[in-house]
Amino acid sequence: MTADIIDGKAFAAGLRDRITVQVAAFRQATGRAPGLAVVLVGEDPASAVYVRNKGKATIAAGMASFEYRLPADLDQADLTALVETLNADPAVDGILVQLPLPPQIDDRAVLLAIDPDKDVDGFHPLNVGRLATGVPGFVSCTPLGCLALLKDRLGDLAGLDAVVIGRSNIVGKPMVQLLIAESCTVTVAHSKTRNLSSVVRRADIVIAAVGRPALIKGDWIKPGAVVIDVGLNRTELGLVGDVDFAGAASVASAITPVPGGVGPMTIAYLLRNTLISACRRAGVDLADDTL
Ligand code: NAD
Repeated sequence: MTADIIDGKAFAAGLRDRITVQVAAFRQATGRAPGLAVVLVGEDPASAVYVRNKGKATIAAGMASFEYRLPADLDQADLTALVETLNADPAVDGILVQLPLPPQIDDRAVLLAIDPDKDVDGFHPLNVGRLATGVPGFVSCTPLGCLALLKDRLGDLAGLDAVVIGRSNIVGKPMVQLLIAESCTVTVAHSKTRNLSSVVRRADIVIAAVGRPALIKGDWIKPGAVVIDVGLNRTELGLVGDVDFAGAASVASAITPVPGGVGPMTIAYLLRNTLISACRRAGVDLADDTL
């Protein structure tokens, strides 16, 4: 078997096109653009690239982008004061503080300071709790992107066996919650999991979110499984995922490539969350359930 390659880039481009149309309708209805504020503390080069890409995508969709670049030695109090200013700013619908933050800053306190109704990253504990209890809120963008690719491929996920490898607050845990809500039977694997290969072999859906190149071997994949590779690892061979792509592609029915799989979905869902926030805050119903 040779797997179909899931084209996250094309899927994300289609979603961004639909968002752009909805943003134009929002602007027409309200006379203002949805606004996303992105805060970058320090000079981490990977974070700087992510922030630049988010800003470009925001503007390309017709939204307003507010970027704050702050020095690495910033005080906790100054960052909290900025977040509070953004909470109160009516032009700002979404607030994203780029992680990781420098060591003198308590990132949990910063995330708590963000207005949950502007928390388009879905990292505030209130939104984490909303997801866990099935109440509408904001959900982390990368797992949302993974779920969209899965549903596009498989339709109804009910009853399927899914394994999520990785239990981070940003990817693994919200992914688990989303799959439970889709009525999958979910197994969570992590750094202490014994016999990872046998756990992966049971799964119809494999989500790899670890950050180790080619950790998941091709012969661990159940024939016909769908494999979503979230990992982004910079190696001498370039950017690779957590899955041995060639090996897995010879067994799976479908697999995401790295790059061009999950990566583009994250920014598309950030734009979508920002648009939804703007609509909720303005009381505008764009009635589009394709987003
Ligand atoms: P993290 O470091 O916070 O978490 C990694 C998880 O992997 C942990 O829960 C740990 O228990 C688990 N783990 C570590 N070693 C393991 C092993 N040998 N076997 C099984 N599990 C193991 O990472 P994260 O923030 O969740 O990101 C994971 C990967 O996804 C990284 O490569 C990151 O760059 C990538 N990522 C990509 C996107 C995107 O947009 N495509 C977004 C977020 C993260």
